[in-house]
Amino acid sequence: MAKKRYKFNPQTLTYEVITIPFRIKFYRALRKVLIGFILASIVNVLFSFFFYTPKMYRISRDNNELLIKYNMLNDKLRAATARLQEIRHRDNSVYRSLFGTDSLNMQGIYTPYPDSKYKHLNNDLYTPLMVSTWKELDGMSRLLYLESKSLDELEELSKNKEMMAEAIPAIWPVNKRNLRGHIGAFGTRRHPVTGRIAGHQGIDLGGRVGDPVYATGNGRVAFNNEGERGYGKQVLINHGFGYKTRYAHLSKILVAPGQYVRRGELIGEVGSTGRSTGPHLHYEVIYRGLHVDPLNYFSRDMSEEEFAKIVESAQATTYETE
Ligand SMILES: [Zn+2]
Repeated sequence: MAKKRYKFNPQTLTYEVITIPFRIKFYRALRKVLIGFILASIVNVLFSFFFYTPKMYRISRDNNELLIKYNMLNDKLRAATARLQEIRHRDNSVYRSLFGTDSLNMQGIYTPYPDSKYKHLNNDLYTPLMVSTWKELDGMSRLLYLESKSLDELEELSKNKEMMAEAIPAIWPVNKRNLRGHIGAFGTRRHPVTGRIAGHQGIDLGGRVGDPVYATGNGRVAFNNEGERGYGKQVLINHGFGYKTRYAHLSKILVAPGQYVRRGELIGEVGSTGRSTGPHLHYEVIYRGLHVDPLNYFSRDMSEEEFAKIVESAQATTYETE
């Protein structure tokens, strides 16, 4: 109950009850409420300086949860990148070697974007975490782009696979029954006459003059000539897909430059032209400009034992002079 107020009236010499108008009462009440509110606010601000409010506890907890989720996301990103790297590896070492092509590379695909790209993430307590996540994500999307391009290329290659299978040198250039004497091995050898160590860029298959020589894969005759580097009469076939084969010391050439030949087609006859010590075929397989051991390409039409026997019988002497 409100306290009554009195005022002494000198004229009537009595105390009279003061009646305060409602408007004034209202203002006074409002003032009290406002002062109370301001005081409470000040106390609240001071309090929150030294103590956590329940709301702040909640926010802080949410913040921690977000941080944990961010870190989990980061882990997942790294795992996904690792999977992608595995796919890249398989692409390069399995699929691409199947087709005999180099791995696809793009200029600067592994170079991270400049730090200025992540400037908007600066000035935050969690800047390092956020920037590293973004970088991981960007790196992954670049890798994905590279891989999708690579797969497009592989798809194209697989369409040519049949053509390629027919082009790669895969059979003996002479009839195996016609072989005479030993096989002159590929690689380094001691020269039979000079005794010097030199490289032998093909294999020598001994035979008789006139034995048929066959193209070992589909391709186009790049040239046939006589005398170049002691090869005598020779034929070079370009098979495409990085492969070339050479047939040297022939007695007869039966194909012309530019002519398309199929695997097994007769292209010449065994001879002893050029720097040769006896009738034989010097046969080379050249892959991407490098000479490789032709014996490895015969294994397709030989049993394992047969192949082992031939490799064993191959000798480091040849039918050639230098
Ligand atoms: Zn040779």
